[in-house]
Amino acid sequence: MTDQSRIDIRKVTKLYGGVRAVNEVDLTIDGGAYCCMIGPSGCGKTTLLRMIAGHEIPSSGAIAIGGEDVTALRTGDRGTALMFQNYALFPHLSLTDNVAFSLRVRGQGADQRRAAARAMLERVQLRHLADRVPSELSGGQQQRVALARALITNPKVLLLDEPLSALDEFLRLRMRVELKRLQSDLGITFVHVTHTQPEAIALADQVVVMDHGLIEQAASPRQVYGRPHSPYVARFMGGQNVLAGKIEKVTGAVAVIAAPDGTRYDLIDASGLVAGAPVKFSVRRDRIALSDAATAARNAAHGKIVNIEYQGTFVKVSLDTGRGEEFIVYMDDDEYLAAPKEVGQVVYATWKPELNHFLRGTNDSAGTPHE
Ligand code: ATP
Repeated sequence: MTDQSRIDIRKVTKLYGGVRAVNEVDLTIDGGAYCCMIGPSGCGKTTLLRMIAGHEIPSSGAIAIGGEDVTALRTGDRGTALMFQNYALFPHLSLTDNVAFSLRVRGQGADQRRAAARAMLERVQLRHLADRVPSELSGGQQQRVALARALITNPKVLLLDEPLSALDEFLRLRMRVELKRLQSDLGITFVHVTHTQPEAIALADQVVVMDHGLIEQAASPRQVYGRPHSPYVARFMGGQNVLAGKIEKVTGAVAVIAAPDGTRYDLIDASGLVAGAPVKFSVRRDRIALSDAATAARNAAHGKIVNIEYQGTFVKVSLDTGRGEEFIVYMDDDEYLAAPKEVGQVVYATWKPELNHFLRGTNDSAGTPHE
């Protein structure tokens, strides 16, 4: 299925009157990949999804699936299926007839389409409820019916618009596992729009981070989370502190950054940088040591604790370093309990220089909604 279900999006733009919902987007989604699109409200992710599905036509640009240009094809002719956010089930039809519906539209006989629907219900573990109507199901079960209904046409690409948002936290985590399992069993491409960073990171082979109609970064979850492209991606995906300074000197591939308060930082991968350039870089919140006394003058920050939040597996300690953005440290809970901190206390943070990650992209926004 790999090449047949690859998606190539080339210079796709969608205009709604004066609004550029999607702006000259280029993206390749490998066949058989699980792709998650994420970004603040209004960034264009649903519009992009709906253009892949054929529910919206691009204002310009082209979309190909499996190497075939589908830009002008009708929704039913491009090998995609879309699972709607609200499931859109028919309330008066049994699960079997809900799932068989699109086969009926395609003119398939009753016995054949019902047998196919039952087989698909089996796949989503609902065969035993095949004669019920949707109102007799839980939210998670309704979601599985919607999945079965989308998959019945054997699509090459399944498009999911916030498929888990109507579920409670517990069910969401369970359905997340089921979605991933289903995708790897079927071997087709899933494109899933979400608002939730941990969901994107847990599910995706490829995370597409959008902002204002543009793709900021499209890469593996490890890259997007651990090696963000820009200050925006670092802030939006979370887990990083964004710091600023000026390049003081460059020696080979190593640069020294000076922050406005005089602290120096070593940047190991500084290729292409020149002395005097302003830079932003990030440091992972979970790789920072905190102590009550200053231990190092470089690759360090200090400030007053403004908030402490216990998160179960770690403790989130927020510092006011006087540089505007809060500086956050995730402390291992055992380590924290061995030396608890207090709000108002001044603490010193240090980390290894190789953790300083240069943010090459220039988008410095905080990920505000684009209304
Ligand atoms: P959300 O997470 O809130 O669903 P989104 O990232 O999916 O947001 P889109 O729904 O793709 O965003 O919308 C992108 C932009 O296009 C927004 O500014 C939105 O108001 C605008 N837009 C979307 N659909 C239409 C439409 N049918 N007519 C006019 N403007 C639209």
